[in-house]
Amino acid sequence: MNASRKQLLQWDRDHLWHPFTQMSTYASEEPLIITHAHGCYLVDDQGNEYLDGTSSLWCNIHGHRHQALDQALCDQLDQVAHSTLLGLSHEPAIRLARKLTEIAPEGLSHVFFSDSGATAVEVALKMAFQYWQQRSDPRPDKTKFVTLNGAYHGDTIGAVSVGGVDRFHNMFSPLLFDVHQAPQPHCYRCPLGLTREHCKMDCFLELDRILEQHHDEIAAIILEPIVQGASGMIVAPDGYLSQVRSLATQYDTLLIADEVAVGFGRTGTMFACQHENVSPDLLCLGKGITAGYLPLAATLATDELFSAFLGTPSESKTFYHGHTYSGNPLATAVALENLKLFEQKTFFSDLKEKAAVLKTSLKPLKSHPHIGDIRQKGLIVGIELIHCVETNQAYCVSEQMGVKVCQQAREHGLIIRPLGDVLVLMPPLSMENEQIQHMCQIVHRSIDSITSPTNA
Ligand SMILES: *Cc1c(COP(=O)(O)O)cnc(C)c1O
Repeated sequence: MNASRKQLLQWDRDHLWHPFTQMSTYASEEPLIITHAHGCYLVDDQGNEYLDGTSSLWCNIHGHRHQALDQALCDQLDQVAHSTLLGLSHEPAIRLARKLTEIAPEGLSHVFFSDSGATAVEVALKMAFQYWQQRSDPRPDKTKFVTLNGAYHGDTIGAVSVGGVDRFHNMFSPLLFDVHQAPQPHCYRCPLGLTREHCKMDCFLELDRILEQHHDEIAAIILEPIVQGASGMIVAPDGYLSQVRSLATQYDTLLIADEVAVGFGRTGTMFACQHENVSPDLLCLGKGITAGYLPLAATLATDELFSAFLGTPSESKTFYHGHTYSGNPLATAVALENLKLFEQKTFFSDLKEKAAVLKTSLKPLKSHPHIGDIRQKGLIVGIELIHCVETNQAYCVSEQMGVKVCQQAREHGLIIRPLGDVLVLMPPLSMENEQIQHMCQIVHRSIDSITSPTNA
């Protein structure tokens, strides 16, 4: 080990507190230091190459160091790196706002920029709340939110309040506001104990009941459309989302769609809501919005919602919310270029083929004795490891099976991260078919050697 690497590793342990990371474990391992990247590969300081199997935390779209994206960023750097949107404007933000409203589900004609998925959600929650207080026919009692079990909307306190991943969220419960929580549509581990054959989407009935009883006090329903991400890539049954849309309309509550993870082609369509032709009242975007280049997020709103915030300054209808780097020029410039790349003629047909290749490559894993479920939508995959398929018995948390398999995959040149015992595959949308196949082979090999070390 050369001196500077040793020094960096020491400083990393001494001073850098990593997110979602148990630092005492981290300190006992030798972490990777990524120095550069190209296409779908990350390269460490030893020159080892790794397939980026989770798109650098679900946000890379067209690969790393994409020429057009790099160029867009450099061009904007020649103009201005940052100028505020508080009372001023700039061209990339204007153009991006217009473009987003063109491609978003119908009716979302106003764009509010922020800088992370969590802030996009905070903005949506505050907008929904304030809307009912001050619209022309106010409903001041509509102050509560309906959320789903297992939901993940980010880590700020408002976003955690509408979250439902106990492992992340329980600690903060005294700080959170009350919500109504409905069961998640989780067909593998059904919260109502039903099986796919004996289910009429009964989880939806509970949501229906909550709305029926409490709609007078409910401001909005918030959900991750089609796939609940951090909960373990839980794919909702077909029709669930459009039924929730109908319910929201029926009971006069807003629908907030958090597409921070599933937006920008991830599930095979530009936005996940488009699978069921659903238009939410508020749409949260983040992660893939800049193709994985810079922090940026957006909350899109309808005319109806936007209009409720108009008035004279003394009426105090202004939305008093903003972030210093909201709609930063570099981030919005690269986001615009990102959207241009989606316009390539065969983009979505190629994407469909990649999803099919991914599905085929995962087939050999279906009958694996330690895989309980494989869930896929587009280029999102969750592979649930279990101790025993016959009894559906999970592994003990202390066994850290998910972590171990991912560490093993690293040895074979693939970087992935687990969610508990669910392995997540979220390759860049630009990943080549052969790379997708290779990724799945590494996953298979890694699962084999960890779950049955003697046969490996
Ligand atoms: C990642 C994520 C967030 C939070 O985004 P950050 O940029 O990490 O704040 C919110 N909602 C969903 C669905 C996410 O997957």
